[in-house]
This record gives sequence, C-alpha cells and structure tokens, in this order.
Amino acid sequence: MGWRCQTGSITTYMPSLVIQKHAARRLHYDFRLEVGGVLKSWALPRGPSLIAGEKRLAIEVEDHALSYGSFEGVIPSGSYGAGAVLLWDRGTWEPDGDPVAGLVDGSLRFGLYGDKLTGGWRLTRMPPRGRQISWLLIKAADAAARPRNAPDILQECPLSVVSGRSIEALAALAP
Ligand code: MN
Repeated sequence: MGWRCQTGSITTYMPSLVIQKHAARRLHYDFRLEVGGVLKSWALPRGPSLIAGEKRLAIEVEDHALSYGSFEGVIPSGSYGAGAVLLWDRGTWEPDGDPVAGLVDGSLRFGLYGDKLTGGWRLTRMPPRGRQISWLLIKAADAAARPRNAPDILQECPLSVVSGRSIEALAALAP
C-alpha cells in the first residue's frame, strides 16, 4: 500500500488513504489512514462533507491490515460487518506533523490526495463518553472545500473509484 512519489531528487513515501462505503446493518463510510503499517480506522455514519467547518462524527474502530485497503466485495451474511463494501475513494494522505503524536493527542491535521477528497482536513477527538471513542472529521477552508449550497459529494459521486459500480450493483453480486 502507499505510493512512492518522486519530488526532485527525494523519494517520499506517501501513506495510503482508503474510504470504503459499507452497506452493513446501517450504511456508513469507513475512513482509513495508513499509520505505522496499519490502517487506522473510523466509521462515519454520515460520511465526509466537503463543506468547510462541517463536523462529521467519526467513531474510532479497530485497526485494519493494509491488505484490506484494496477490498471491494460482499461480506457474507453471518459474518461481522456483513454487507457490500465499495471502494468509494482511494489515494494517499500527508500528515501535518507526527501522526502518531497526533493520534495520542486527539488532534490530527492532514492533506488528502484521493480521487474525491482532497485538500486540508482535521480529525479532532471528543471528550470520552462511554466506551465509544468519537472524533470529528472536518474539512479545512481551502480551494477544495465547497459552499453550503453546493452538491453533496456523497450524492454526486456515489460510485466505486475502482470498478465504477454502485453499492446496489455490488450487493446484487452476492451469492
Ligand atoms: Mn464498516
């Protein structure tokens, strides 16, 4: 996972970004950032928003293996997370500062280089409440942000970035 990009004479490792649209019991988006050889993961019940400053709940979930970042398909019924998993966006990301420290401190700023999500973003951890660890995913005010009355990226670009399929078409492939 991740890509190596040539910038002048320096080769920089760019860790991967994966967003999977997941039609489990409830539709959500799994937002994953490669950190230290795993995919740090958050479940977004309402998905990301390109409107600057709009807060989207991001529930911290277990790390996933890098290899899962290329998965698109259907998790069979009876298994954990049963339902269709679509690669909604994929690319690389660039932390602003040390991402490990940011994860510990509950404040992560970064750039995204996906097909759909680009520009500056931040993840901010909320005070603990119960067992759920909640963060907020927020788009920075920059050229990649959209005004409030602009189309919703989730509605505008619902398809897989690798297969062009819709989540319904993917689910229909299940045996
Ligand atoms: Mn999921």
